[in-house]
Amino acid sequence: MIIATPVPILSDNYAWLLRDEESGCIAIVDPADPAPVAAAIDAAGGKLDMILLTHHHGDHVAGTDAIRARYGAPVVGAAADAHRLPKLDRAVKEGSEVDLGASTARVFETPGHTVGHISFYFPDGGVLLCGDTLFSLGCGLLLEGTPQQMYSSLNRFAALPGDTLVCCGHEYTESNARFALFADPENLDLHAYAEKVAALRAAGQPTVPSRLADELECNPFLRAPDVATLADLRARKDNFK
Ligand code: ZN
Ligand code: FE
Repeated sequence: MIIATPVPILSDNYAWLLRDEESGCIAIVDPADPAPVAAAIDAAGGKLDMILLTHHHGDHVAGTDAIRARYGAPVVGAAADAHRLPKLDRAVKEGSEVDLGASTARVFETPGHTVGHISFYFPDGGVLLCGDTLFSLGCGLLLEGTPQQMYSSLNRFAALPGDTLVCCGHEYTESNARFALFADPENLDLHAYAEKVAALRAAGQPTVPSRLADELECNPFLRAPDVATLADLRARKDNFK
């Protein structure tokens, strides 16, 4: 089974260190900043088996070549975006399976934030690496994709088991909570969750991974009943101060 640990990098990004318990194999997801990522890998034993990329933005992929050169680990990313990702050792698409030791990730194509965005889901351990598609209490900006694409991508996630751990690409939860409370002021679960988030941030702790069951209760974007509602929420949040 996979244990996922966030590695804070840049101003508010997370790379994710994945460890397959049975084999001890290690992967890193979105290693945009080589120094803190290498420190995390070295602290985990100094051996790296794989680099996983969710999408082509610099704040997710910038350190990829440096980390590959240092550890000799293969890079896995979306075939559809191979032209704008660092050189891929393995190009994957919807339905591809990626083995890390004794655990296997399924690849989901999850367009919306970018058209080539992919997510990795490890059923064993219930770990979802969703990059900038789903955030705790929010979702990614629609920089390339359509509301329909984001809606479909979020629905893929919503169908996963409730104890799935949402391992997203940014620590945006506290500001997302402000919009979520504005959009869904009567949601008592959300009020309670927002208090927990504020306490974690006040203590300097990450708010992720979050539990999918909590997102299903509290995240307005994941709760949107149709594409039009999602599009409206996204547009309102884009202008929310
Ligand atoms: Zn991004
Ligand atoms: Fe990002």
